[in-house]
Amino acid sequence: MEFDLSLHGNCILSAEDNEVNQMVLQHTLDEQPLPYVIVGDGKQAYEAWKALDPKIILMDISMPVMNGMEAIGLIRQDEQATGKHVPIIALTAHALKGDEERFIAAGADSYMSKPLNPSALIDAISRALNPPTTSVLIS
Ligand SMILES: [Mg+2]
Repeated sequence: MEFDLSLHGNCILSAEDNEVNQMVLQHTLDEQPLPYVIVGDGKQAYEAWKALDPKIILMDISMPVMNGMEAIGLIRQDEQATGKHVPIIALTAHALKGDEERFIAAGADSYMSKPLNPSALIDAISRALNPPTTSVLIS
C-alpha cells in the first residue's frame, strides 16, 4: 500500500475494517482540521504508522489480517527504540468487562466503544493532541 508522504508527521491515522464505521469516521474527521488516512486492517495500520508518523491513531480492535491489539503491540515495541509515543485511542464494539484494562495493557492510551459518538471522538482527539499543561499562577 502506498501512502501520501506529504502527510508525514501531520495526520490522523484511523484503522477500521467495517465500511459503515469507515463512513462515520470520514464524516467525523472531516469536521476537524487535521488531514486523515483510513486503512482497513492492523497490518496496514502498522505500515501506515511507519510511513506517516501520525499525530494520533484511532485503532479498531477487531480487524482482519492483523487485529488492533497486535498492531498496537508492534507500534509500542518499535517505539522503544525512539522513545516516542503516539497517542492511540482503541475503538471497539465489544465493551466487555475487563476490556478497557486489556486495551490499556496492550498499549492504547484510551478507549471508546462503538457505535461511535462523533462529538465525543472529536473531543477525545483534541484532548490527546493538546494535553492540559500545568499552569502556575503568579500573584
Ligand atoms: Mg472491526
